[in-house]
Amino acid sequence: MVDQYDVIVVGGGPAGSTTAGYLARYGHRTLLLERSQFPRHRIGESLLPSMMPVLEDFGLVEACRNAGFVEKTGATFIWGKTREPWDIRFSDTPFLPSGFAFHVERSVFDQILLDNARRCGAEVNMNATVLEAIREGDRIAGVVYRDGETGGTQAVRAKFVVDASGSASIIGRQVTERRYDDQMRQVAMYSYFKNVRGAQDFRNKHIIIESCPKGWFWFIPMNSERLGEVSLGLVTGREFEDEIRAKGIEGFYNEALSEAPYVNELIGPKAERLEEIQAVRDWAYTCDETAGPGYYLAGDAAAFLDPLLSTGVSLGMLAGYSSSVCIHSVLGNPEMEAAAAKFYSNNYRQMYEVTRDFLHYFYAGNASAHPNDLFWQARRMLKFDENIGAKQAFSFFINTIPGNPHPALQKQIPMFHQFMNNLDHSVNEVKEPAGMEKIVTGGFRSARELSDEDVPIVNGRLESTWRINRASHTLEPIRGITFDRDRPVFSSTSSWLLGRNVSPLEDSACDLMELMDGESPWSTIIGNFSGKAGLPLEEARKRTAEIVAPLLAEDYVLVQGRAAAQ
Ligand SMILES: Cc1cc2nc3c(=O)[nH]c(=O)nc-3n(C[C@H](O)[C@H](O)[C@H](O)COP(=O)(O)OP(=O)(O)OC[C@H]3O[C@@H](n4cnc5c(N)ncnc54)[C@H](O)[C@@H]3O)c2cc1C
Repeated sequence: MVDQYDVIVVGGGPAGSTTAGYLARYGHRTLLLERSQFPRHRIGESLLPSMMPVLEDFGLVEACRNAGFVEKTGATFIWGKTREPWDIRFSDTPFLPSGFAFHVERSVFDQILLDNARRCGAEVNMNATVLEAIREGDRIAGVVYRDGETGGTQAVRAKFVVDASGSASIIGRQVTERRYDDQMRQVAMYSYFKNVRGAQDFRNKHIIIESCPKGWFWFIPMNSERLGEVSLGLVTGREFEDEIRAKGIEGFYNEALSEAPYVNELIGPKAERLEEIQAVRDWAYTCDETAGPGYYLAGDAAAFLDPLLSTGVSLGMLAGYSSSVCIHSVLGNPEMEAAAAKFYSNNYRQMYEVTRDFLHYFYAGNASAHPNDLFWQARRMLKFDENIGAKQAFSFFINTIPGNPHPALQKQIPMFHQFMNNLDHSVNEVKEPAGMEKIVTGGFRSARELSDEDVPIVNGRLESTWRINRASHTLEPIRGITFDRDRPVFSSTSSWLLGRNVSPLEDSACDLMELMDGESPWSTIIGNFSGKAGLPLEEARKRTAEIVAPLLAEDYVLVQGRAAAQ
């Protein structure tokens, strides 16, 4: 049968509209099917700088300003050992792609993105509910949907289906297993207020998060005619099910609010609630495969993480970009299908795992603030890898690039220390991960020149993988060194979705690094290199020195042994 479309995107939230916008822009016949009529309400109002390049790509930053969205400049936490607020200011972290993001009214923001997808050339059908996938062998080859206008069902076929249907994950549930994070099955209750006092200083553009005995509150400044000036939500636990039933949602929420003094002060005495308090599920999950034959899952359809770090919408948009690049690459070169799916799935899995570990670490680190409260006693037990938690915290705050210390580190290192000092974990507790032990206990160090008896080791992992070419929006092969979860420094959470932090290296450098087993000295390596390359020993030594000089300069290669002669 003939495919009517290149791609069908299910769902018109941030993930779906971003995917459809890019694919249509790359010239592919794209159909987006959205169940509801817009505008429609959604929770998830505070965004991250990591999604700003997407808005910039589409020229939508001005549209967001014109919509009156508050420019978000950072986050303030009342979290940890003291009740003193502490801040993350985006402008202090120069490796973020933007110094600000937005706090948005989702019904307006999602409409902006959907209109943009349409403008880019995607065909958009509203009131179109996808019912099931069309399968062809093990391939997803289209969908069946109900047309809300006519009441009839339609079958449409495409080379790819992107499921961006949010937590409904209508296709995802048919093709892969969802895995819940049993330790993070939470509940959220939220509403909107006007006539609030708000922060009286630079924090008036921050999301403010205050932990309280029953969980934590978000205070998101908004600027909405309909929803007022503040979105105020409580994240709490399943352990209170009975209490919530007894007190009612409103009673429970108000009682929790009375135990959050900082937020109460921000709300002020004149605040008026504009809506009923709504309760929603906040259960973290991921799934086994986020891409496979004929399908990709993006946004909440793929995975959901607790909102403490405000990651949801931004991750959905980055997944939209990443899935569009993968599909664009495969439509241009069908032989890449398996590699592209693997690239996407691996990135999703790693992003989910490191962020989940960091969230567990963040929660557990607040336990001593409320030592006798049920919610926090349970979170003290959260499982995480102490190393990953601290290292992720480090990269979250420092955002550094290996071998490229930036003057702004002077500001970022205190931010990291402030974080670690506030939480119950101490920096000293951090143990070196398996690979690092060797480096640390073996006394590996920087060197700038070859010395026969030095033993070199690769300070990272050599990989042959793929990366996104931002000019052609396709995947291209890359060979180089990665700094990933086993390494001391790695890139910030969101960027995991776009592929790992690979520093490209020439084949000659990779070939040489493959000979570094952490035990052989340079003399042996040069001998092996001479044999492999068919070069006389002296020439091999000269060539090795040339190849290795930039690797030593960047600390991609460390050495063990006496200090190299200067
Ligand atoms: C309590 C709470 C607080 C949060 N706070 C934040 C925050 O501060 N910042 C943040 O970034 N994120 C936050 N999030 C997360 C955020 O809400 C989601 O991550 C985000 O909305 C995901 O976008 P999406 O495009 O994947 O899905 P959605 O926004 O859910 O969009 C999915 C779309 O698919 C449509 N759809 C569903 N089923 C079908 C079907 N069968 N056929 C056709 N269409 C269908 C739906 O109508 C919907 O429009 C929060 C979440 C919760 C629960």
